[in-house]
This record gives sequence, structure tokens and C-alpha cells, in this order.
Amino acid sequence: MSDSDGKKTLGLRGGARPGNVKQSFSHGRTKNVVVETKRKRVVVPKPGATKPSGGAAPSGDPSRRPAGISDAEMARRMKALQAAKAREAEEAAAREAQEKAREEERARRRAEQEAKEREQREAEERARAKAEEEERKRKEAEEAAKRAAAAPAPEEQPRTARGPANKPAPAATPRKQDREREQRGRGKGRDDNRRSGKLTLGQATGGEGNRQRSMAAMKRKQERARQKAMGGPVEREKVIRDVQLPEAIMVSELANRMAERVADVVKSLMQMGMMVTQNQTIDADTAELIIEEFGHKVTRVSDSDVEDVIKEVEDSDDDLQPRPPVITIMGHVDHGKTSLLDAIRDARVVAGEAGGITQHIGAYQVKTDGGTTLTFLDTPGHAAFTSMRSRGAQVTDIVVLVVAADDAVMPQTIEAINHAKAAEVPMIVAINKVDKPDANPDKVRTDLLQHEVIVEKMSGEVQDVEVSAITGQGLDELLEAIALQAEILELKANPDRAAQGAVIEAQLDVGRGPVATVLVQNGTLRQGDIFVVGEQYGKVRALINDKGDRVKEAGPSVPVEVLGLNGTPEAGDVLNVTETEAQAREIAAYREQAAKDKRAAAGAATTLEQLMQKAKEDENVTELPILMKADVQGSAEAIVQAMEKIGNEEVRVRVLHSGVGAITETDVGLAEASGAPIFGFNVRANASARNTANQKGVEIRYYSVIYDLVDDVKAAASGLLSAEIREKFIGYAEIREVFKVTGVGKVAGCLVTEGVARRSAGVRLLRDNVVIHEGTLKTLKRFKDEVTEVQSGQECGMAFENYDDIRAGDVIEIFEREEVTRTLD
Ligand code: GDP
Repeated sequence: MSDSDGKKTLGLRGGARPGNVKQSFSHGRTKNVVVETKRKRVVVPKPGATKPSGGAAPSGDPSRRPAGISDAEMARRMKALQAAKAREAEEAAAREAQEKAREEERARRRAEQEAKEREQREAEERARAKAEEEERKRKEAEEAAKRAAAAPAPEEQPRTARGPANKPAPAATPRKQDREREQRGRGKGRDDNRRSGKLTLGQATGGEGNRQRSMAAMKRKQERARQKAMGGPVEREKVIRDVQLPEAIMVSELANRMAERVADVVKSLMQMGMMVTQNQTIDADTAELIIEEFGHKVTRVSDSDVEDVIKEVEDSDDDLQPRPPVITIMGHVDHGKTSLLDAIRDARVVAGEAGGITQHIGAYQVKTDGGTTLTFLDTPGHAAFTSMRSRGAQVTDIVVLVVAADDAVMPQTIEAINHAKAAEVPMIVAINKVDKPDANPDKVRTDLLQHEVIVEKMSGEVQDVEVSAITGQGLDELLEAIALQAEILELKANPDRAAQGAVIEAQLDVGRGPVATVLVQNGTLRQGDIFVVGEQYGKVRALINDKGDRVKEAGPSVPVEVLGLNGTPEAGDVLNVTETEAQAREIAAYREQAAKDKRAAAGAATTLEQLMQKAKEDENVTELPILMKADVQGSAEAIVQAMEKIGNEEVRVRVLHSGVGAITETDVGLAEASGAPIFGFNVRANASARNTANQKGVEIRYYSVIYDLVDDVKAAASGLLSAEIREKFIGYAEIREVFKVTGVGKVAGCLVTEGVARRSAGVRLLRDNVVIHEGTLKTLKRFKDEVTEVQSGQECGMAFENYDDIRAGDVIEIFEREEVTRTLD
């Protein structure tokens, strides 16, 4: 893992050493620069703290007092130092005063110049008026002459008539003067610039801009005069518009909103030193300058107006109808969350359903004996709860806190209590495992007191139920307790409106494309609805409920799998139904851009800025940046949470980006820019990402066990990452055809594309670079014979032990677990 091989290996990026930093400029240009971070230790003298050693040496370093200097000498030097400091302060004050005076002078000059310009404009105005007057008089005279004589000197007249149009003789003199005056004014303005050494906003927009504008104004005036002479339209008043300005705007759109010509806007931008085309996007600050320059008014809109179409409409009380509560089960690991969820589901769902097949979609509904429907979120764990909440999706109405009766209140129990409290969600305590002989429910109750959870049995408000997920004891009581709590909450929603929901789980399903389990929170989601969800959009192709049945619609508190997305959203993303696909697409695109900008900003912060920051601050604090891709959202979140916990005061792990799906070129790009390794959890890099990573020296590590990943990052964070890897890929095979063989099941006809296929090795089935199965081989056949090994380039037949879902195009990864020196990539 040394840097000498030029690879971005897993390791600490601390220390004073050169690093490559990728600078990103606007319009997609990038540049690699080598940055050498020098650690300059700046020690501020603290007279109090350093007294015993005799105070600060004049060098500014109190700890290094030169030898052989007496206390008296030291005191003298101290005094000199203080005097110097005082002088410095005085100088700074003087500088400030000077600066202020200069600023005032500048303001005065600006005012003067403006006045002068006004004057000039008025003079022009007067001159024009005069010219018009003359013209009018001339015309009158002409008329009179016409009327008076039959044909007095016909050559003479056309020339004068042409006069004001082609050669504006009467206006020429004042205009020339104007120009001269203007030139003088401009000269002054430039002097100002030179003196102050910087260009002020006023100068930029007023001084320079005006010069160009007045040239254009001249032309326009000429044109107007010409038109007038020909009896054209009279001068129009300039319309001042209110221009809505989002955070970024395309130049053409900006021109459109101001009702100005695009070419003029581009020209103005160029005068400001921005070479842009009409199709480029500029930031709001620049746009604001332009708008002001054109004399319009700016109205900044913080969020893009595209989101407005999904603004919340308040439901009236009459439209609201009761809805089922949504419940999340939380508690310490091994206290029985999963068992409880399964027990509730089995007891309630399977019994009533044909075939008893349930489908895991991240949530399910059950009915209590009393007839209340309850919706359980099937994703136990606090990560899901908090990350959903942090994305603004508060889906949980009630938290069931599971505490094992044979154990005590544990760290994660406390964490769960805190989460519930923070979210202001009522809690019900399920004291689990009461079937166990060493169960002591009352201990749990008293334990909870310490954390301000006072259960009913202790005369508190929080309901408590003793249950056993194994025997089923107390399950009904628990459900009734939840129903009661729900009744108190009076949960309501309006089913007769466009649906809004939250994503509970999302993944890229190979056969079906991106799939998201959405919990409808308000309204009714129907097949055919067009929606936007996070940065994705789509049209509901199919809805599948928790029993695996296709349904036509899903009302409030109903979890459904939604098919028909254009991409995979993230857990916690909010889904909104929109009227048109264009709206949905526009919102999704806007959000994607916003997220990209945010990431870019974060990315930039991890490179230059933070390097500087780090160098400036404490020498010891270092960050280990990483990128992480996983097969499902749940794993991604669990890993991110685990990563954030790693580290001490000296080292922090920073997850630059995490997501679901194969590792792509974009990921590699980000990793390269930040000098971060990429971790793939049950996913692989696609071919182009692999190539880029090899080229750029970005390290990609694959894992299939969360603990392994966490361990490695931990080790890296403490600088101890060993060179060994846990598994080695020995070969890859591509499935060409799938055969059904009686007695054996499905057999894959494969071509070994890399390395070897070994009968005894572990195998993984990859579909679209996502691991969908891991196991062992049942057979490895070459022609009719069972063999132990098949070499690269040869065809063979393979079948998995206990696994049948194989398809042509899938890739089989063959690996062995062993301890070897890392030679990956
Ligand atoms: P989780 O980590 O909170 O999801 O806990 P699990 O549901 O995985 O349960 C951890 C262990 O406790 C498993 O071995 C379960 O079989 C066991 N367990 C869960 N509930 C009960 C119970 O009510 N009684 C007994 N005896 N064992 C239980």
C-alpha cells in the first residue's frame, strides 16, 4: 500500500507531501495540479502560559529561548515585542482609516461621474429636442413654401430633407462635445481604477458598462431619429421587469425573462469578462449584475420554481379519513427485532393468505383481532430510521422498543429511545423473550426508569407488553396496544388526492429494472400515475403489495412496490405524483443538478480547502476519504453509519459518496479527485470503470461481509492495514446458455473468460455487476465428465448448489479465500 507504485492505495493522506489535486473549472474543464502541502507550524505566543520560561523570545517562539540570555534581556525583548505589536495595531488602524477615506473618495467620484453623465444625457436630450424642433419648423416652412409657390428650387429641398436622416448635422456638434466630455470622464474613471488598484462593482457596471452602452445608445438614437423622420413609431418607454432569478440560469433564459435580446446579454457578459454562449448557465450573482445593468428588478427565488408544482395543498378536515399507523421496531441487536417482525407477520398474514407466500418488500400490513390495520416497517435498525428522518421523510408513527427480558437495557436500546424522543414518536415497550427461564421483565422496567421511560406497570404513560417471538405469547396484546396508541394519535390522511409517499427501500432489480417500495403517506397512488421521486421520475407501470399481488392502487399507509422508475431512488426520498411527465422530468433534472453541485462543492472541500485547513489546524487530525457502493440501500446505509463511527481525535473516515449499484466511471472520477479508495459491497466495477481505475491508479476493494469491510477501514484508519486480502478472484466465466437437466436442475453452459474455474472454489453469480448469489458449485463439467478445473478460454457446464436462478449473460465469479500478499488490480 505504498504510494511509490503510484496507486491511490488505502491509507492515510496525512503528512506533508505532494498530492495531485484535480481542479475543476466551470464548463467541465479540469486540470491536474500538484499541490505540496507544507506544514508550517504557527505558534501564537501566549505570554501567560509561557511565563515560567521567561516569556516569548522576539523570534516569536516562546519555547525556544536562546541560551545565555538573561532575564533582564528577556524582559527588554518582551517590551520591544509589545511595542512592535502596538505599533502594528496603530498601523492597521491607520490603514483602515485610509481605506475608508479612499472608499469615500471613490463614492464621491462615482456620484460626480453619475451627475456628469446625467447632465450629458440631458444635454443630448435638449439637442435632440432642438433638432426635432428645427425639423418641425423646416417641414412647416416646406409646407408653406409648397403651398405658396408652384416649383421653387426642387434640388435644394431633397438634400435638406435627407439631412437629419443620413447625416444628423444639427445634432453633430453637441454629440461630439458629448463624446469628448465622456472621454474625459472615462479617463478619470480609469485613473480611479489605477489608484485603487481594484475594480469596484460600481465601476464595473457603471463606468465600463456605460461607455459601451452609450455607444449603442448613440446608434439606437440615430435609428430612432431616422424612423421619426420617416414618420416611424414614436419612442417607446423602457419596461422595467421583475425578473425571477433562480440559483443558476441559462443565458438565453435570462434574456428571455428580461425580454432583452440574447446577443445584448451575451455582450454584457463579455464586457464583464465572461465568455459565455447563450446556452451556458451562469450563477445568480452574475445574473443579478446583468439584470441590474439592463435596469430591471431582481427577485431571487431560493428553490427553483420547478418544484412549485408539487407544493403541499392543505387538506380540509372534511377530506381527511383515518389511516393505519406505521410502526418501526427498534432495539438492541439480538433482542429479537427480526424474530418479532417475522412472528407478527407469520401469525397474521400467512394464516389468511392463499399459499402463504409473503414477499419481502420492506414493509407489511397486518390486521389485529379488533380489526385495526397496522403497517410495519420491515427494516429494523436505527440507521434506516435516522437516515429517512434526515431526508425529511418521517414515516413512523409509533416505535416499538424491543428489550430482551433475559438481558438489560443496552447501548442500542438507549439509542432507540433517543431516536424516538428526537422524532417525537410515541413508544411502546415490548419486553421480549419472556419464555426464557432467566427472563426478568421487571428488571427491564426498572432499568428503563433510568432513561426516563416510565412504563404503565411503573405507573407511567408508556405501554409495556410482555411477549415472546418464539412462542407467540403476548403478540395479540402487543398489536392491541399498538392499535390503542394509534387511536389516541388520530392519524388521518386524504385518499382523494395526488399521492405523496416515502421510499422505504429501493434497488435495481435485474429483471424488473429499478424498484422502490413506497409507503404512501397521503393520497392514492395508482397505476399509470406520473411521479417524481428524489432525483428520479417515472410512470407507475405496476404496483405490487406485500403479499406479492399486483394491485391497481395504494392508499394512505399502504406499502407498495413501484415499478416504472427511470433510476433507483434512495431510501427516504419523497415521491410526488405530478400532472405531466414534463413536470416530473424537469423536477428530477433540477434536483439531480442541485445534488451534483452540492457534491462538487463537497468534493472540492475535501481536496484543496481541507488540505489547507488541515495544515493550518492541528497537525494530527487526518481524514481518510472513501467511496462506497453496495447492492442494496440497506447495506449502504449500515456501512456508512459504521464508517462514521470509526476514528478518534486523530483520524476520521469521511464517506465522500455512497450509493447502490455497480461501481461506475463517475465513482472512479470522484475517487481519483479526492485520492480515495472505492469499496464495493456485493457489487463490482463495470468494465469502463475498471479500466479507468487501472489507468488512474484508483484502488477498488470488494467485500461481501460488512465486518470485513469495517475491519479493513479501521485498520487503514490506524495505519495498520495489512497487505493480506481475504479472498482472491481466480476466475470469471460467462453464462452463454442455460439448460434444464432432470435430476440436476438448471445447468449453465459457460465460457471461462479469465483465470480458472475450480470445482472446490467459492462462486458468486453477478448480474449487471451486482452479486445476486454466493455459494458453491454442485457440478463442474467439461463435456460429459466431471472435472476439478477448467482453464480460461474453455467451455464448461456449471450448476450451483441450492440455487437455480441463473440466466444467459450472467457472470460467475470464482474465488478462493486465502491469505496472500495483495496483488489486486
Ligand atoms: P435482532 O438482532 O434484534 O433482530 O434479533 P433476532 O430477531 O435476530 O433474535 C436474536 C436471537 O434471539 C435469535 O437467535 C432468536 O431466535 C432469539 N429470540 C428472539 N426472540 C426470542 C424469544 O422471544 N424467545 C427466545 N427464547 N428467543 C428469542
